[in-house]
Amino acid sequence: MSEKRLHLLRSEEIAKGTRAFHLSRPEGFQYEAGQTIDLYLIDPKEMDAEGPVRTFSLVSAPHEPELMFATRMRDTAFKRLIQSAEPQMELAWDGPYGSFTLHKNAGKPAVFLAGGIGITPFMSMVKSATHQKLPHAMYLLHSNHTPQDAPFQKDLAEFQKQNSNFHFVPTMTDLTPEDSWAGERGTIDAAMLERHIPNRSNAIYYLAGPAGFVHAMRDMLKADGVDEDNVRFEEFPGY
Ligand SMILES: Cc1cc2nc3c(=O)[nH]c(=O)nc-3n(C[C@H](O)[C@H](O)[C@H](O)COP(=O)(O)OP(=O)(O)OC[C@H]3O[C@@H](n4cnc5c(N)ncnc54)[C@H](O)[C@@H]3O)c2cc1C
Repeated sequence: MSEKRLHLLRSEEIAKGTRAFHLSRPEGFQYEAGQTIDLYLIDPKEMDAEGPVRTFSLVSAPHEPELMFATRMRDTAFKRLIQSAEPQMELAWDGPYGSFTLHKNAGKPAVFLAGGIGITPFMSMVKSATHQKLPHAMYLLHSNHTPQDAPFQKDLAEFQKQNSNFHFVPTMTDLTPEDSWAGERGTIDAAMLERHIPNRSNAIYYLAGPAGFVHAMRDMLKADGVDEDNVRFEEFPGY
């Protein structure tokens, strides 16, 4: 286990069964929007098969003073312990890791496809790009079962107001025709991309979420003729 330590400061519910956790930012810790951190429980009083460490994408952006991650609260030892943590609980950490970060060439639009909790790296990227006033065109399609399950919708709508290069398209897959919802319905497909992205021939695609979502999106893009070299993805195991 890493020797490095940080503190779990607080947490709050951000969607049904979904929490955001705020962490102290260790001195000198630098990262890029979209990168992950490994968090370890120290001497946990209970443990299960997956052990005391989990990887999380940082939701916070590099200009912010605290770190933040978000997760679906499954009934696992790791998640029980962080949810019931005393304030200032110590965690060991390692990182940052990963190269799931925004490409440099602003001439190419970014298309972010997020399944549920897979929104986490995109929150950081969009927040950071908005803060830095980056010129990249960014299109985020975020798929959830229902609006109650969908984290960060208000923040994303707010980024869209602040940043005219950012376009936010939430879609709900499990609504009945009677449910009121003004946005898209159903899973993300090529027709939905066509409706919202004016010129995607030279776009870079980023996919994040549970493995089933990422596989389905890769297949959909392949069938749509998107070059695999322009598709980057991050699978979240355990969902
Ligand atoms: C790069 C990266 C970024 C991530 N970012 C986030 C994030 O931002 N938010 C988030 O919530 N999660 C993220 N994850 C996933 C996270 O690390 C946990 O795996 C996830 O939150 C589930 O943890 P858990 O304690 O609920 O379940 P776990 O105890 O990890 O697993 C639950 C179930 O899934 C099974 N399982 C676990 N791992 C695997 C596997 N590799 N293959 C097949 N089955 C498996 C277990 O056997 C068990 O049945 C990320 C993972 C990676 C690799």
